[in-house]
Amino acid sequence: MGIGSRPASCASCGKRLNRKQWYYRNGKFFCKKRCFGTEQEKTATEAAKAAAAKAEAKEKARVAESAKETPAAS
Ligand SMILES: [Zn+2]
Repeated sequence: MGIGSRPASCASCGKRLNRKQWYYRNGKFFCKKRCFGTEQEKTATEAAKAAAAKAEAKEKARVAESAKETPAAS
């Protein structure tokens, strides 16, 4: 595996990757283990946010749907 097979900077902090010390986890490169932890936390937070947004959208759709179902006087 050549030197060109990895990016020049850390996926978390953007710091230039050290030639000797870098971590490869989940398809990303990090300058140190701590950056992998940080990135993982960030990803988890984003996933939680996305799940919450999805749940909210679902709830909104449900409310809209129940409003539609209100029997209209004909
Ligand atoms: Zn880093």
